Amino acid sequence: MTSTLTPEQPTSTAEPVFAGQKSATETFLVKLFAVVPFLALIAAVPLAWGWGLGWVDIGLAALFYSLTCLGVTVGFHRHFTHGAFKANRGLRVGLAVAGSMAMQGPVIGWVADHRRHHAYADREGDPHSPWRYGTSPAALAKGFWHAHMGWMFEREKTNPKRFAPDLLADRDIVAVDRLFPLLTVATLLAPAVLGGLITMSWWGALTAFFWASLVRVAVLHHVTWSVNSICHLVGDRPFEARDKATNFWPLAILSMGESWHNTHHADPTGARHGVLRGQIDISARLIWVFEKLGWATKVRWPKPERLAKLARTPDPRSA
Ligand SMILES: [Zn+2]
Ligand SMILES: [Zn+2]
Repeated sequence: MTSTLTPEQPTSTAEPVFAGQKSATETFLVKLFAVVPFLALIAAVPLAWGWGLGWVDIGLAALFYSLTCLGVTVGFHRHFTHGAFKANRGLRVGLAVAGSMAMQGPVIGWVADHRRHHAYADREGDPHSPWRYGTSPAALAKGFWHAHMGWMFEREKTNPKRFAPDLLADRDIVAVDRLFPLLTVATLLAPAVLGGLITMSWWGALTAFFWASLVRVAVLHHVTWSVNSICHLVGDRPFEARDKATNFWPLAILSMGESWHNTHHADPTGARHGVLRGQIDISARLIWVFEKLGWATKVRWPKPERLAKLARTPDPRSA
């Protein structure tokens, strides 16, 4: 499986790793685009509280957010793309289903795109690099949107025969892949049905649909896309990687550990991305639970010797 992760690497060692420092304008633009729409959403909460939003909506949104986010982070990403652990058949299918319910596309296409991202990270061929258009503020603003959302509107499809032959050969996964339209309907309707049943009202079904289906999907979309955009632009780079991936702590909880993205690019098959002290990684914790249950085996936990070799500073843990 790992062989599919390393097609010819177009490395250019003559190029420096960093292209200077970001200007204050660039940093400001990133923050503006990332934060303001979220603030607007948060401002809507007190306005709606008591008539169009209640604890049932919050509870359902949190439940479906956690289920689908972990389906993507533990399933699509760490298991299917990178083989960070082996999963038994039930867990494998369950993870594929849960990830599909995040509405980020069917599993095989997701994995093919992401393997291509690692193969060409921040270079020609990367499906979503914020550095695609250059390093000026205008180029970075354009690149930010390309990496965040714009890349999905391009017409070229990553070839799954090249990037995900292992999944094409797995009948279970091909079946889940084909069920994607049905799983999309399920992920939108299930919260509404539950909200209606719990409150025994049509209004409860409607508010649950709004918050636990639409808003929940939108928030997870932006968090996932932020790993592609923000986590290749802003943050720390404690480990040596061939690309510009960063660790961005403000997204650690919402992304369930995926925003420790510099560490991930330095050590892509590792089951834990938050490897330094205090770096919370909920996905890694869930893999640990699966391992204890005996559902996950051959977990590639990060090895201190390997991390020490990858560290850019002598010992990042002392930093
Ligand atoms: Zn990346
Ligand atoms: Zn990855």
